Amino acid sequence: MPSYKNGAPDVVDLQDAQNAKFQTLRLQRFYLAQLNYLITYVVICVAWVSGQYQGSVWLMLSHIGLGVSTQLVFLALFRSNWNLRLQDPSMTNAQIAVAILLITYLLAFAGPLRGSLIMIYANIMVFGIFQLSRRDFLIHSGLALACFGALITIEHYYLAAPRSFTLNLVEWFILACFLVGLSMTASYIRELRERLQQRHNTLQAHQETLRGMMGQLQNLATTDPLTGLANRRHFIQEARRRMTLMRPTQQLGIALIDLDHFKRINDLYGHAAGDQVLQGFAELARATLRDHDLIARFGGEEFVLLLGNTSIETLHQCVERLRQRFAEKTFDVLPEGVHCTFSAGLSLLQPEDDLEVCLNDADQALYLAKNSGRNRSEWHDPSYA
Ligand code: GH3
Ligand code: MG
Ligand code: MG
Repeated sequence: MPSYKNGAPDVVDLQDAQNAKFQTLRLQRFYLAQLNYLITYVVICVAWVSGQYQGSVWLMLSHIGLGVSTQLVFLALFRSNWNLRLQDPSMTNAQIAVAILLITYLLAFAGPLRGSLIMIYANIMVFGIFQLSRRDFLIHSGLALACFGALITIEHYYLAAPRSFTLNLVEWFILACFLVGLSMTASYIRELRERLQQRHNTLQAHQETLRGMMGQLQNLATTDPLTGLANRRHFIQEARRRMTLMRPTQQLGIALIDLDHFKRINDLYGHAAGDQVLQGFAELARATLRDHDLIARFGGEEFVLLLGNTSIETLHQCVERLRQRFAEKTFDVLPEGVHCTFSAGLSLLQPEDDLEVCLNDADQALYLAKNSGRNRSEWHDPSYA
């Protein structure tokens, strides 16, 4: 699992995960190749049992032995991750070259079955269809033709009773035709794959851009640009969401906060100074509240605070702490000794309550705080309602 530092996934871990994914794919491809080997072993056995194989049982077994041992070497290279040191960690070229050599060795003893078994060369090449470049494909085709050509040449000159050389040449020619055809098909598939990959990359890039734009839009829709706090809409949505998650015994705390005589700040020191005070309040609130508490700009110089699973005492303590710190806060834009204060109205929200009603209760408590001299917090007592 990737680790996260400062909220961002660790690049090295992501790289490791990517490598592990590719290594698994390589192994899957290797196991698929083993299925083809297994089929070839069965074919060899059938040829031997039916008397079509031209050699002793030991010679017959040597094909299987060579096949198994070379594949065990590849398996060990994959399993030990040694292949990752190579330029092509899939080792496709090496695997195809080994298979071509093994099949040529088999064809040397295939007798009359050679004509049908010769197509195994083409089967081997299919293994590299998604991986190999046109050049590699042609090189492997050349290797297969050279091996088979060498086999029929050696047979022609050194065997006491060789097969018909014309038949051998025709087989070689048929193999060459099929390999050329296969090379062309492979190139086409490869081009198609590259085009698809390009389209996929472009789509992914578009998706990333869209995701970024969605994030920006989401931000714009939910954040107040001056203070960076949540806006009223987001607050209402979030409060409703949190209400649905409440257990019957729990209650949320709501505090409506209104800066005192804020109009005077604007009038005396300018609108820009007023803006700085609003930003200063937001900064202080963020620093004073816990991560899970929600503070939002409700409008103008009014803010709203939502505390989860709280009592009126805790809510009161929290708002008082913020109120005292704000009253002590100094601002560069205000003359020395000039401080700002706020008044707050508190109320509690039960799961069955109406959010609007609760906000209205907090507003009434705020009205009380203003009328009782400001720079204080009051709470809505339902018994007085
Ligand atoms: P009270 O103690 O009764 O709340 O008095 P107050 O002056 O704070 O209340 P009032 O509603 O009379 O004035 C609020 C002021 O807040 C008026 C408005 O110009 C100012 N205000 C609202 N939004 C902004 C803003 O984004 N920036 C600045 N600088 N001022 C703002
Ligand atoms: Mg106001
Ligand atoms: Mg005010």
